[in-house]
Amino acid sequence: MSTSLETIKTLCPYCGVGCGLEVVETGKEPTLKFPDRFKVRGDRAHPSSQGMVCVKGATIAESIQKDRLLHPMMRDRLGDQFRQVSWDEAFDRITQRIQEVLATKGADALCMYGSGQFQTEDYYTAQKLFKGCLGTNNFDANSRLCMSSAVSGYVKSFGSDGPPCCYEDFDLTDCLFAIGTNTAECHPIIFNRFRKRHKKEAHVKLIVVDPRRTQTAEVADLHLAIQPGTDIDLLNGIAHLLLLWGKSDRAFIENHTNGFTEFQELTQHYTPEFVSRRCGISIEELELAAKYWAESPRVLSIWSMGINQSVQGTAKVQSIINLHLLTGQIGKEGAGAFSLTGQPNAMGGREAGGLAHLLPGYRFATNPDHRAELEAFWQLPKGSISPQVGRTAWDIVRGLESDQVAFLWIAATNPAVSFPDLVRTKAALRRSPFTVYQDAYFPTETSEFAHILLPATQWSEKTGTMTNSERCVTLCQAFQPPLGEAKADWEIFAEVGRRLGFNAQFQFQNSADVYAEFAQITRDRPCEITGITHAKLAELGAIQYPCKDSAPELDQVHNKRLYTDRQFHTSDRRANFAAYHSQGVFEVPDQAYPFILTTGRLYGHWHTQTRTGRIDKIRQMHPHPFIEIHPQDADKLGINDGDLVEVKSRRGASKFPAMVTKAIAPGVVFVPMHWGALWADNAEANALTHAEACPDSKQPELKACAVAIAFF
Ligand code: SF4
Repeated sequence: MSTSLETIKTLCPYCGVGCGLEVVETGKEPTLKFPDRFKVRGDRAHPSSQGMVCVKGATIAESIQKDRLLHPMMRDRLGDQFRQVSWDEAFDRITQRIQEVLATKGADALCMYGSGQFQTEDYYTAQKLFKGCLGTNNFDANSRLCMSSAVSGYVKSFGSDGPPCCYEDFDLTDCLFAIGTNTAECHPIIFNRFRKRHKKEAHVKLIVVDPRRTQTAEVADLHLAIQPGTDIDLLNGIAHLLLLWGKSDRAFIENHTNGFTEFQELTQHYTPEFVSRRCGISIEELELAAKYWAESPRVLSIWSMGINQSVQGTAKVQSIINLHLLTGQIGKEGAGAFSLTGQPNAMGGREAGGLAHLLPGYRFATNPDHRAELEAFWQLPKGSISPQVGRTAWDIVRGLESDQVAFLWIAATNPAVSFPDLVRTKAALRRSPFTVYQDAYFPTETSEFAHILLPATQWSEKTGTMTNSERCVTLCQAFQPPLGEAKADWEIFAEVGRRLGFNAQFQFQNSADVYAEFAQITRDRPCEITGITHAKLAELGAIQYPCKDSAPELDQVHNKRLYTDRQFHTSDRRANFAAYHSQGVFEVPDQAYPFILTTGRLYGHWHTQTRTGRIDKIRQMHPHPFIEIHPQDADKLGINDGDLVEVKSRRGASKFPAMVTKAIAPGVVFVPMHWGALWADNAEANALTHAEACPDSKQPELKACAVAIAFF
């Protein structure tokens, strides 16, 4: 850590683009007009972002000081005032409670819910504590709501997780197929990279598939405003035409894939007439999309929540990958199936095993060899790691409802805004007999449900690594001391581990030690990072993995794209076609609830506004929530722009000012997901959503539910 005027290299802690930042201390005393001692700018040397930042990265320093949780706090009952306590008292209470629960209800009554805001060192230490030492896989993270369908889709199609593409592909592709992603607003810097090429090269096409006319769709060559839930119809319809026109890559299919015959048969059902009807687009639009696919030497598909947050999330991911297998558009420059992660370190979480079915190093809890490898590495008795998949995000709610969860530890995330079906979520959180909430900020909507608050350090105060969407690992360096008594998340987990008697397992002196241990566990795994250390990252800048320590030169181990040799991680090294029919949305509109509500994000805000709600410039940019409604629907209901309307689903109700716009299709309405109870009265998008989830990924369908709209 440095307090001098030198430049510190770090990473933007918001989205999965993972832009490199430089921080310079101004040397000036903070004033009202310039409250920050630090100036933040893009790092031109960072390979992913090349000096670019969006408004979130540019204003991050403004959020460091405001509303910070400075001391451990405790209370006996929800509703009581918190009282400040020492770290010793807080640790004693937590370890005592864990021991009580272990003795009376067993390890599976313990749960932790973490976050893609964790650094990889935090993730790893939490896995070692929960999955190794405590013997429960009940660790899940907000990544479950974000990209777990991409993980399961990659695993099923390629045999392993790991986005196969890199950002350079945005500079090289001939056709960007953006489905279920508003990249211009949600991942703006990589969209800028693509737009540079798109504006310059007339042959480069942008296809956007989205029920809304988003900022991304505004600049598309083709916008397919499909009905929510009909993505698989469209994808199978494009495959149907490519096969009909003889535009498949037969050699690739023959030599490198399984399951083609079944997939080919399935696509016969998806005639242009059928797909046009299902998706609500014209046959000409469908044919143009297929033509762009057929005529582009390099097609890059990107997606995010619009695909992942669905009861068919995994099926949708695999259906996108099908098109790449069909055309051989994989493992080459400018082409591939690229999941854009939401959180800054959702990828690091995947590597460190930070989901309830995973173990560190892209291992699986259900695999006995994987468990044995980790038990030996962690010096724990055989059988320490449970063979059961742990509680996923929504299973934690169910566990609280059925009194099977007796200890809940939430860290660096705000489920009282981000979970689906908030009425039910909050009721479950209220029932929790013991909740530890660890965060940098206070209050948040979730702190209301805590018995113990633990102050965590955040960006600027802790050193550790994050991995962005293109598998690029960056060292985020601390440049100021922790505020108050805050501690790094990994330090808190390690201290609890030691107090529970696992001294040998938690002898880390600093986060570099944690990373060094984690790196060894990735040896010979698809996400190998044995060639990466904190020291190397500090010296050389960001490094992409796989990165082996056996490789002599860093240049030689930079591994921009996966599957360039067309060898996949399945047992026979062949990729798998998947044959899925479209099921549509889970909750179909009816007379009582005639609209489909879809949710999403805005350019300036980040998730539940824990940081961005505290930044004036961003609050001015997006001052209040709203609901987008098509003029036809607004006319029928007598709604004018700005009218306050009530939106009801089978689970709850919220109120939003109407934004009457043709950007949304008739019959569909859109609400941004950023506003919780702290920032607006009764305007929670997730009071309306439901928790039905993809059976493979367990990712809830936050993107679509049936609602009614009333104007009063
Ligand atoms: Fe930060 Fe994402 Fe904006 Fe880059 S694009 S500055 S990572 S929020």
